[in-house]
Amino acid sequence: MAGQESVEANNIRVAIRCRPFSARELTEGSATPALEIHPGATVLVLPVQEARASKSFTYDHVFGFADTQEALFQAAGVQLLENALNAYNGCIFAYGQTGSGKSHSMVGDVHSEAEKGLLPRACLQLFSMLDTARAADARFEATVLASYLEIYNEKVFDLLSGSDRGELQIRSHPQLGAIVGNLTECPVECFAEAHELLDFGATRRAVGATQMNAASSRSHAVFTIQVRMLIACSAGGSVESQAKIHFVDLAGSERQKKSGAVGDRLKEGIGINLSLTTLGRVIADLTKPGTRSVPPFRDSKLTLLLKDALMGNSRTCLLACISPSVFNLDETISTLEFASRCK
Ligand code: ADP
Repeated sequence: MAGQESVEANNIRVAIRCRPFSARELTEGSATPALEIHPGATVLVLPVQEARASKSFTYDHVFGFADTQEALFQAAGVQLLENALNAYNGCIFAYGQTGSGKSHSMVGDVHSEAEKGLLPRACLQLFSMLDTARAADARFEATVLASYLEIYNEKVFDLLSGSDRGELQIRSHPQLGAIVGNLTECPVECFAEAHELLDFGATRRAVGATQMNAASSRSHAVFTIQVRMLIACSAGGSVESQAKIHFVDLAGSERQKKSGAVGDRLKEGIGINLSLTTLGRVIADLTKPGTRSVPPFRDSKLTLLLKDALMGNSRTCLLACISPSVFNLDETISTLEFASRCK
C-alpha cells in the first residue's frame, strides 16, 4: 500500500541480455568474445585476459544473441501486463553501460514488427487485453494514461510538456504514494497515440540534453502507463482498481573517469552514481528483507519516485544489458555484479 514503510515480500526478477557484436566491432577486429551464455540462465566470463579467472553468474533469465525482441517481451513483459490488470504495479529497468542495448530492449525500432522493444509491445498488448475484457463484459471500463519524465542530475523534468523545461517536485501522498507535481498525464486510447507521446518525449529529451550540454545517456527516462479500471461485480455495483507500469531506461552505468571530470560533469557523474547505487541498495534490501528496516528510498529521486513500484504488491524486473566484447569486459563484469547483488 502506498505510504507504507514496512518491507513486504517483493517479486524482483533479474535478467541479463547480451547484445550481438556490432558491425563496427566485427570489421575493426574487436569481436573477441568475452562471454559464453549457457542454457539455465548462466553467463560465463571467459579467462580472456591475463590474471583473470573464468567466473560464472546465474540469474532468473539470460538472453543471448539469438533471442528476439518478442522472446524478451514474452519472458519479461507479458507478466507485468497481466499483473497490472489485477491491480499490481510493475516496473522494468534497463541497466547497463552506454551502447549495451538498453534503448534497443526498451523501445527498439517502433516501426519494425520484429525490432519493436518492450514498451511498444506492452502498449499493443495492453490495448488488445483491454478490448478482450470489454468484449467479455460490456460493463468493463478502462482508462489508460501515459506520462514520460526524465531525471537528470537529481532533477525531474516533464518530457510531455510543451512548455519550457522547469524542474518538477516529488511529493509524498499518504494514499497515492509519490506524486510528481504538475507532471503531464495524457489519456491514450490506442498504440498510435502512445507511440506519438514516446516520439515527442524522445525529442524533448534530446533537446533538453543539448540545452544542458549533456548526452541523453546521462539521464534516466521513465515512461509510465497507468491503467484505471471499473470492474462490474456479479453481486451488482462495481469496483475501481488501478495499476502503474514504469518502463525505466537508466543512465549509462559506466564509471566516470577518475580524472578530467570537473564542474558540471563531476556533479552529473555524482548524480548518476547516486541514483544507480541507491537503486542497487534498495533492490538488494528488498530481496533480502531484514537487512535494514527501511531501504534507502529517500536517498535518490529515482528510488523516491519509484518506491511504490518497488515494494508492496508490485512486480519488478531488472534487465541488465551487456556487450559481448572483450573491450567492454570491465564494465560488463561490473554490470553482472550489480545484477547479482539485486537477486
Ligand atoms: P544503450 O541504450 O544501452 O546506449 P542501444 O540500445 O542504443 O544502447 O544499443 C547500441 C547499439 O546496439 C544500437 O545500434 C542497437 O540497435 C544495437 N543493439 C543493441 N542490442 C541489440 C540486440 N539485442 N540486437 C541487435 N542490435 C542491438
